[in-house]
Amino acid sequence: MAARFRPSAPHTSAASSVAAAQAQGQWGRAWEVDWFSLASILFLLLFAPFIVYFFIMACDQYACSLTAPVLDLAAGRVRLSDIWAKTPAVTKEAAQIYALWVSFQVLLYVALPDVCHRFLPGYVGGVQEGAVTPAGVINKYEINGLQAWLITHLLWLANARFLSWFPPTIIFDNWIPLLWCANILGYAVSTFAMIKGYLFPTNARDCKFTGNFFYNYMMGIEFNPRIGKWFDFKLFFNGRPGIVAWTLINLSFAAKQRELHGHVTNSMVLVNVLQAIYVLDFFWNEAWYLKTIDICHDHFGWYLGWGDCVWLPYLYTLQGLYLVYHPVQLAAPHAAGVLLLGLLGYYVFRVANHQKDLFRRTDGRCLIWGRKPKAIACVYTSADGQRHHSKLLASGFWGLARHLNYTGDLLGSLAYCLACGGGHLLPYFYVVYMTVLLTHRCLRDEHRCANKYGGDWARYTAAVPYRLLPGIF
Ligand code: NDP
Repeated sequence: MAARFRPSAPHTSAASSVAAAQAQGQWGRAWEVDWFSLASILFLLLFAPFIVYFFIMACDQYACSLTAPVLDLAAGRVRLSDIWAKTPAVTKEAAQIYALWVSFQVLLYVALPDVCHRFLPGYVGGVQEGAVTPAGVINKYEINGLQAWLITHLLWLANARFLSWFPPTIIFDNWIPLLWCANILGYAVSTFAMIKGYLFPTNARDCKFTGNFFYNYMMGIEFNPRIGKWFDFKLFFNGRPGIVAWTLINLSFAAKQRELHGHVTNSMVLVNVLQAIYVLDFFWNEAWYLKTIDICHDHFGWYLGWGDCVWLPYLYTLQGLYLVYHPVQLAAPHAAGVLLLGLLGYYVFRVANHQKDLFRRTDGRCLIWGRKPKAIACVYTSADGQRHHSKLLASGFWGLARHLNYTGDLLGSLAYCLACGGGHLLPYFYVVYMTVLLTHRCLRDEHRCANKYGGDWARYTAAVPYRLLPGIF
């Protein structure tokens, strides 16, 4: 049952929202909230911070066992208050590290225009355009994430080798106090984005109001909130403090493993290398990322704001954290298998994404697997009533299934988990989570595409009937 629309916002009335939704073919997140969505949102708003806490606490207090704390609680051997009492609180040191970290990333983002594209062949950086928003706006972005990543990591390595300003284990050593700081920023930025959406949106015509406070808070009101000309919330929070940190967090975990156990295991090296490829791929292709769902279709709310500050850096790095507590040394065939699976997953992920990007950039005037691509022409209407033409690729990886880029991502995710051996469930959370995320994303995206392209989308799904696994799903 859908929640009823109420005139809830100064900028968009219910009637105009519905009219806009019809005109836009329901781009982006929903305009109306059904009870299932509302229940899921309330569940996540209430419990997601505790889920993150549970995983990190399980490593800290129970050597990464997920069942031991539950069994201890069920048997009355400990109380929640005992667990909480043993949890490190926020510290002044952690607050300073975190403030310095975020400020440094803001500085790199807004104050250092990209120079990498001037000397790195094939790299697309500098000022780039995003996709057309539902209101028909094309935003410009300063693409300098690779530069920010390189500077940050060069400084990290310089510190580890020569400067010794701080120990390379600093992130691990402050992991739980930093969790509180990340939560504070995640909630602060989501709340600010909500207030900004009501009071001073960057582009009022790209705002969405459902009339449901919790849904608006979680899924966001503004499409591309900005401060000034260049500080874009979505690109910064999606792509900077969390993702730049991902590889540093793994390096810090490797340093801690060496400090505690005297060596770095091959599983830790595999996790560091495979995830670093994924992160570097993200920055190398940051301009392409402007055309992905996060930037093109999702509004900026708690889902992205808190998710990028807390969920991503804490749960995407669980394998490295686990290996600090369990220094798994893999047999050579196991390690080789993990490496091959990780590289295969990355290959499918990258090539599938590249095929779609090339096809869209050249308007189909390219070769896919050495042949002229199969294209399905389609038409859609933006909020200003303009009709636009587009094309859907139906060959290459996109002819095998409609989301083989997700399948490649899932293979890579499985490889990170398999690197941790079979001792515990905790490192496998990532692949389970990614399967849920990408399956849900696939369904969400297809719903949106069906609304956007109508009969043209139906022709595409008839030509390419499977979503993620050819012949199965
Ligand atoms: P896609 O890159 O698959 O983008 C989907 C969009 O592409 C659709 O909305 C549609 O947009 C367009 N499209 C769909 N089918 C076709 C086609 N056949 N031909 C041309 N265009 C098509 O999805 P995402 O943005 O979600 O993901 C990008 C990558 O990021 C994926 O590889 C995913 O695995 C990864 N990812 C990783 C996450 C993580 O947490 N690690 C989270 C999310 C994504 P349009 O309206 O333009 O037609």
